[in-house]
Amino acid sequence: MFLTISLFSRILVYLTAMKIIKNFSPNYDKKKRSVNSIKIIVIHYTGMQSERESIDRLCNYNSKVSSHYLVNQKGKVFRLVQDRYVAWHAGKSYWLKYKNLNKNSIGIELVNKGHQFGYTKFKQNQISSLIKLCKKLIKKYRIDRKNIVGHSDIAPMRKLDPGEKFPWEFLAKKNVGIWHNQKLSILKKYRKIKILEKKDKKKFVNDLNKIGYCFLLKNKSFFSKIIKAFQRRFRKELIDGILDKECFIIAQNLAKKL
Ligand SMILES: [Zn+2]
Repeated sequence: MFLTISLFSRILVYLTAMKIIKNFSPNYDKKKRSVNSIKIIVIHYTGMQSERESIDRLCNYNSKVSSHYLVNQKGKVFRLVQDRYVAWHAGKSYWLKYKNLNKNSIGIELVNKGHQFGYTKFKQNQISSLIKLCKKLIKKYRIDRKNIVGHSDIAPMRKLDPGEKFPWEFLAKKNVGIWHNQKLSILKKYRKIKILEKKDKKKFVNDLNKIGYCFLLKNKSFFSKIIKAFQRRFRKELIDGILDKECFIIAQNLAKKL
């Protein structure tokens, strides 16, 4: 029976304009949500061996996972779940005042093998299509720039995607997401200079809160995981989970603008 669903899911219907390919996933809440509840875009990578395998999983009833869109490496966009339904992509997650983000977000999967199976650079066509899609969604649902996030930002204990190869800076230049305005050549000088003062650590936590990160637990391992998520996104040159002055300056700069 599931094979039938899977075959059915591959009946592709081309839509106009963005050439979004309609596919079917049964994995969503059957109750429609209000347009106003859509506040966040969560970017993922598929983390599987192939595109086919990824689409099959996201459309298989047994997997209990899905996303609204999937963008393949050639830049083709697949719609798996309609925006007005809650897709199952974020899991246990937190961002700003939001908790368990499925109900407030749109999930976009990018085909990439991920850290487990051979993480590769995202393809140019894939990123161009993603930007187009995000712009459309941002406009339609009036999504705040700071609410364009990666899965690892909202679930730092469990997730690494979309990972350090994802071009956040490039997206921000196209008005999708946020970025700082500090020069890398200057920032570099502050790399690995540890932040020791308690008040500076506190300020860093406040700045991260302002950006959206939630410090749920007050232990070292959680702190380090959040810093890693922050670094994966904003300081990909060194992802060590240690708060240094470069991270401090970046966070301060980002928070100031929000
Ligand atoms: Zn994910």
